[in-house]
Amino acid sequence: MDPNKRFYITTAIDYANGSPHLGHAVEKIGADVVARYHRRKGEDVHFVIGMDEHGQKVLQSADAAGVSPAEWVDAIAEEFTEAWKVLNISHDDFIRTTEDRHHRGVQEIIRLIEANGDFYQGTYSGYYCVGCEGYKTEDELVQEEGEELRCPTHPSLEVQWMEEENWFFRLSAYTEPLLKLLDERPELVQPEIRRNEIRKVLEGGLEDISVSRSRLPWGVPWPEDPDHIVYVWLDALTNYLTAIGFPGEEYQATWPADVHVIGKDITRFHCIYWPAFLLSAGIELPKTVWAHGFVTYGGRKLSKSAGVTFELPEAIDRHGPDALRYYLLREVPWNGDGDITRERFDERYTTELANDLGNLANRSLSMIEKYRGGVVPSAPPRSLDESCEKAVERYEHVMDDGLLHQGIHTAMDLVSEANGFIERQAPWSLAKDPAGAPELDATLASLARALLVAATLLHPFMPERMGELSRRLGTPELPTLGLVLSLDLSGNSVIRGEPLFPRPDLQTK
Ligand SMILES: [Zn+2]
Repeated sequence: MDPNKRFYITTAIDYANGSPHLGHAVEKIGADVVARYHRRKGEDVHFVIGMDEHGQKVLQSADAAGVSPAEWVDAIAEEFTEAWKVLNISHDDFIRTTEDRHHRGVQEIIRLIEANGDFYQGTYSGYYCVGCEGYKTEDELVQEEGEELRCPTHPSLEVQWMEEENWFFRLSAYTEPLLKLLDERPELVQPEIRRNEIRKVLEGGLEDISVSRSRLPWGVPWPEDPDHIVYVWLDALTNYLTAIGFPGEEYQATWPADVHVIGKDITRFHCIYWPAFLLSAGIELPKTVWAHGFVTYGGRKLSKSAGVTFELPEAIDRHGPDALRYYLLREVPWNGDGDITRERFDERYTTELANDLGNLANRSLSMIEKYRGGVVPSAPPRSLDESCEKAVERYEHVMDDGLLHQGIHTAMDLVSEANGFIERQAPWSLAKDPAGAPELDATLASLARALLVAATLLHPFMPERMGELSRRLGTPELPTLGLVLSLDLSGNSVIRGEPLFPRPDLQTK
């Protein structure tokens, strides 16, 4: 592996069909944590998110709203961009599939696949789910007695019977190559449970897929056949290349992607279609597709029609953006599903952020102010410094494995240990006896170090609040992960400041 290569991370581009919700937010926040973690390791990171603005459903929504599709997607893109700003998502680029740079790249990948002989013209007849923007075999649909066939993911929509002349992609030819790839490169699809699902699909054999649509006025025109537009998934997936300059040569400085972060419902498109398109076009495959799980609320699917709602603006307002970032990744394991409720959010905010972390910062900084005039003393290490070393080591290990929730655990375990250390050392007693001065110095120095380490480990999760904590420790620039343990804080002037996480029950409104 080239150590100088950029770390390229993407999320699925969001479908421009409604407002951003918690499901979108979990994905963006998790990917943002991964991007920030790699920056903290000193790597050159390129982080791309964006919008999927074509597809039949977008057209229908624009029609229903009585606006042009272009006006519709502009408004939605603005809404998403605003949400990501509030949530402090640190993306380097935001790609929209209606952009020229994207259209050029889609047409180029089609030329490459065409040159490889993997397209042919044929007649498509079968079912289409507008919700999935995908063709369905009868096996993939469900039917209750006396009812129409339905897509199990979109039971409220009717599937459409379609019959039209289309361009087809020889997906069937890629069954064996893809199976072989899964064996050779297990890291290609993660976590393992998702890889096993993909393997099952492949073992059942692949059918060719239709990759164009006729008579749709919204999309990327098929090169040399402008009566057709490019099927929305072939169009959308190519964003991972067009966002970094494909077909211009500069894309090679960033490609292949280190990780495509996606939801577990779209693995078929990312772990079968996308690698097959790339193999056909002669383009390197991404290193990893990481499929995260879903968020439920109180054990139920978040759904407006079912009355199970927790809208994004309300969730952000509850305790601020950083607290939401923390809570979602604390509660929703990055390699599986998770459940949230307002009550548990409040509880975790109070016990973990306001009490454990907030009080640790408050107590430590105020004791440095009170006993040492606000200057971190110089002193030899104590047991807590060893805990810091172990925490950094374990944190890197779990974060490299994509277990973000365990990264939080590791940092919060250190916070608990630091709180226990204060109780054992009882600095207030040491301060009463001049003979206790060296031990008091060592205690305060160790606490300052532990706070800086905790701030560094938690910074990807809570960039604003942990940046503030680091400033209060007299370290406005957080160190890289490799340097955090060797940084000398002695002589730093600290500021206690207002509580980092105000307790709602103590706030007067
Ligand atoms: Zn569907």
